[in-house]
Amino acid sequence: MAMKLEPAEYRDEVAVADGGWSTILRERLHPLRDLPEGLCLRQPEAVQSLTREYVQAGARFITTNSFALNRLALQARGAREDVRALNREAARLARQAVRNSPVHVVGSMSSTGRILGVREAADSDVADALTEQARALAEGGVDAIVLETFFELAEAVLAVRVVKDAVRLPVIASMSFDSGPQRTRTLMGAEAGECAARLTEAGADMVGCNCGAGASEALPAVVAIRAATDRPLWVKPNVGLPLLEEGRPVYRESPEDFLAAMRPLIDAGANIVGGCCGAGPEHIRRLAAWVAAHRRD
Ligand SMILES: [Zn+2]
Repeated sequence: MAMKLEPAEYRDEVAVADGGWSTILRERLHPLRDLPEGLCLRQPEAVQSLTREYVQAGARFITTNSFALNRLALQARGAREDVRALNREAARLARQAVRNSPVHVVGSMSSTGRILGVREAADSDVADALTEQARALAEGGVDAIVLETFFELAEAVLAVRVVKDAVRLPVIASMSFDSGPQRTRTLMGAEAGECAARLTEAGADMVGCNCGAGASEALPAVVAIRAATDRPLWVKPNVGLPLLEEGRPVYRESPEDFLAAMRPLIDAGANIVGGCCGAGPEHIRRLAAWVAAHRRD
């Protein structure tokens, strides 16, 4: 059963979200020839078992394994998937795996990968692709949508508007800040505070950052976002940067190091905290145990 999400209730709370999806599934199923998101149809047990591990680790927000399942991103990867069927299944699998747990299922959506600023796609094509994915995730039963790892502010603002229009669900807008001397800028140069203000104005119910240069680099961006919005903050950084081992990206930062990097982000006002690339159930377990022991009163 769906669990209604009231974003405002988290403004003064700290709650834990899940960790990464693609990186963890690739690690577990190496060599993975399928898209990690394609596993929703072809190896659903791998997806549901990671979902359950995140819930057991203490996550109360679970994202669906649907990150790049929009028509334009799939085209770019040469995949000919049924967008609607895959997204519905991603949502249904998560919903089923968390049943009987007090957990919010959040439909994950990423950038289309087309840069609007240089007209790699028309606004209307991007809007259509994001609308299609959001509707399918809503049909599958998600409680909210997270727009994550966006790197162009114009696309993120457009995404908030069209998704809010397409589904009657809270929308979380999260961008990646991995550039600039303090890692407070997107790849394309937009500053974290400006992004947070514009996303708030566009109607985002939560605002934040994910992926990027790692949790230990995320504090300046989190401080800037906190100062620019009154919405709850969603913060899911990578555990660090990957090392290449035999041509594979490997994340070596320990759960202890990850927690040490996350604590200042919580002190700076992060409300929903989790991980992105390289963060697995052990990182989330360590983080959730600390949050449970240090609840804000
Ligand atoms: Zn990531």
